[in-house]
Amino acid sequence: MDVKSLYTNIPNADGLTALKYFLKEFNITKYSHDAILRLTELVLTRNCFIFNGKFYMQINGIMMGTPIGGDFANLFLGYLEYLIRLQYRGKHPELLKRYIDDNFGATTMTRPELEAYCDFVNNFHPTIKYEFTITEESVPMLDTKLYIKNRKIESTIHYKDTDGHTYLKYGSEHPKSLKKSIPYSQFLRQLRINSEESEFWLKSEEMCDFFRKRGYPDKIIREGLNKAAALSREEALEPKKPKKEAQDIITFPITYNTMNTKIVSAVLKRYATLKNDPIIGKAFETKPTIAYKRGYTIGRAVTNTRIEEEESEKILGTFTCGRHCTTCKHVNNAPSIVGSKGSVPVEDKFNCLSKNVVYAITCDVCGDLYIGETCQELRKRFLKHRRGAINLAERMQKERGNPTPSPTPKKKRKKRKKTPKKPPEKPTAVAEHFCQDDHTYHDMRVAGICYVDDTARRKEREQRIIMKLSAFTLNRDVKHMECATDNN
Ligand SMILES: [Zn+2]
Ligand SMILES: [Zn+2]
Repeated sequence: MDVKSLYTNIPNADGLTALKYFLKEFNITKYSHDAILRLTELVLTRNCFIFNGKFYMQINGIMMGTPIGGDFANLFLGYLEYLIRLQYRGKHPELLKRYIDDNFGATTMTRPELEAYCDFVNNFHPTIKYEFTITEESVPMLDTKLYIKNRKIESTIHYKDTDGHTYLKYGSEHPKSLKKSIPYSQFLRQLRINSEESEFWLKSEEMCDFFRKRGYPDKIIREGLNKAAALSREEALEPKKPKKEAQDIITFPITYNTMNTKIVSAVLKRYATLKNDPIIGKAFETKPTIAYKRGYTIGRAVTNTRIEEEESEKILGTFTCGRHCTTCKHVNNAPSIVGSKGSVPVEDKFNCLSKNVVYAITCDVCGDLYIGETCQELRKRFLKHRRGAINLAERMQKERGNPTPSPTPKKKRKKRKKTPKKPPEKPTAVAEHFCQDDHTYHDMRVAGICYVDDTARRKEREQRIIMKLSAFTLNRDVKHMECATDNN
């Protein structure tokens, strides 16, 4: 039985419950449980990644590739199995083993009993679903095929249909010792997996062919096979003893290439001579071990995990929407917005229809600028500014056109202000600016600076840009705010 997409289906809270249970169960005292739980929570909830130039945050499940992923998934499934064992009242399978999300079991239950068990397991957790294969003959599990023979479970190697046996080509630019070790390690694998000796020889012969096709000389293939076959299966299955920590030996890391191997062999050969040197001899009291670092490969040069946007998408700036709208005539497609004390780059691609933007209105005549933010389409917001400037200009025109009344009646009129018509709205700084001498609303230019979906964050961004550009003349409210905070 397999768990269907395990990693993304572990609810964070359930995974943490499992972790908490095992920390207590195994009586871990070296580290504070709270610290481990909190750190795990941070790993779970702060996974950000970039896709198509945008940042995303994973909101549930564990991400692939994190160092704690395997352990976290294991603990969670282990806890789930523990709860199932505790709660299922029917018969349990006699054998049940698991490698992360791959399970294998054997039982003498009747089929209906087994189906009832599978049913219970599959409905136990809301997001964890299993795929079952029930068989009386054979079943694959990872790279092993398990089969029943003479009332015994035997195993042999299993290759997936997609397996192309693409072992490292012998002609590849790798250390010779590494290439020599590959056939041996594969025959060792055969020895471990094939429980019947006849199967081991059969599958090993097949494997010899795989290596021949990859250019390995017969001599190296045979040596590998003989070395593996000299071991008993029990010896091969013995877990590797952990290497003793070589504390005093200095590791000398070097990038692998054919020239370096010559240097290395020369150094090691002449080590005795080098040891007599007063400085080198002290630095390398014991013979250093050499570790090869991988050199630059074609693979590294041609692959990139980041998905790049199309070239045309990369051109930043503000552009016309293509509908020849009024705003189109005012679009400023400069790559950055320049203020009196600094500049900010235009971070994205905008047009009249862009929404949720921080934008700049700049003046063609004197270069002054206003920074604003809006959730609306940029053109809707811009047209309000433009309308404000036009209305104010018309009003001023009217006032100028009308003969100024003599001071006396004016005073009288002011005194009779108790029942006036609704006064016109106070003009904005932007409207006033574009009604100055030499200015008209034709001098207004508009450009997007960045997209921010969240309103509070967008306002915050707007404030910061105003500060950075010292755009206080037209953002006069902000100036007051800044003065207020300065005085505090
Ligand atoms: Zn437009
Ligand atoms: Zn101006």
